[in-house]
Amino acid sequence: MNQSIKRIGVLTSGGDSPGMNAAIRSVVRTTMFHGLECTAIYRGYQGLIEGDFEDFTARSVNNIINKGGTILKSARCEQFREKEGRATAFQQAKNAGIDALVVIGGNGSLTGALKLNQEFGLPIIGIPGTIDNDILGTDYTIGFDTAINTVVEAIDKIRDTASSHNRLFFVEVMGRDVGLVALNSGVGAGAEEILIPEQNLGLERLLDSLKRSKASGKSSSIVVVAEGDKTGKNVFELKEYVETHLPIYDVRVSVLGHMQRGGSPTCFDRVLASRMGVKAVESLLEGKSNFMVGVESNKMILTPIEKAISGLSEIDEELIRVSDIMSI
Ligand code: ATP
Repeated sequence: MNQSIKRIGVLTSGGDSPGMNAAIRSVVRTTMFHGLECTAIYRGYQGLIEGDFEDFTARSVNNIINKGGTILKSARCEQFREKEGRATAFQQAKNAGIDALVVIGGNGSLTGALKLNQEFGLPIIGIPGTIDNDILGTDYTIGFDTAINTVVEAIDKIRDTASSHNRLFFVEVMGRDVGLVALNSGVGAGAEEILIPEQNLGLERLLDSLKRSKASGKSSSIVVVAEGDKTGKNVFELKEYVETHLPIYDVRVSVLGHMQRGGSPTCFDRVLASRMGVKAVESLLEGKSNFMVGVESNKMILTPIEKAISGLSEIDEELIRVSDIMSI
């Protein structure tokens, strides 16, 4: 046990994701379990800079495990990108007696946490909280499972109307750089085609696939499109393109947008977040710093933040193949 850590701060930063509350709850309760104090920091790094703090006890996090979003609020903070901003943040942490920090967020948040440690020595551990599942060093980020289930539920509903009217739907889902939300939800919802940033299959292949689909007697089609797909066309342009080249199709577009971030977390995300919170606090108590907690093959692991932020997680080729086979 690291005896010098008596108070741990916790914040959520960047885009919110379902399960962040379960992670906060876990960090707070693990801190209490080990007889330490816990400071909740509101509005991410902005709140750290402004000293927007509250002492939490185990009871402060009652009834939040089932709630989406984050009770601590999240923020994007430009000031924290500058060393001066981080110096103020460190001073605020010091004044409040915070000896170590748990940061729950995505790539940017982890980058900021690492800088705070490197410049001022505050021990930090990161927890990957983002629906994109785009962080290296973990099979799953908190929120991904909930997001893909939300998308699947939405596509199931869209399919009902698509098949009633023999329509083709382009459904845009989140994923600027990584297509894991699109690929997993597309396979789960039985999409005909899935367009992801990692692959440019070309518009010809899309047309061929849709022609084949029509010829095989399918009454409706769903194409899942990640925001960052590489066709060079957005979903509305894709609609026009297909209508021009395949007038047989009645095409509609649905952009799912922010609904993908919301909602009550799935059991998977709640359990993952609970495990990650325990691992984060106990790693700090073991004297570790500058690591991100992750899960690999269902085991909790630590990855240096430097490595976690060095790239983006890769798409699963096997799942792409499954999706190809399923769309026959
Ligand atoms: P999401 O994956 O949901 O976008 P994120 O954590 O990557 O989450 P960002 O907006 O990139 O979200 O980062 C959140 C905050 O982290 C920023 O507003 C900023 O305060 C801090 N941050 C991001 N990048 C850096 C950086 N290079 N240096 C210092 N701080 C940073």
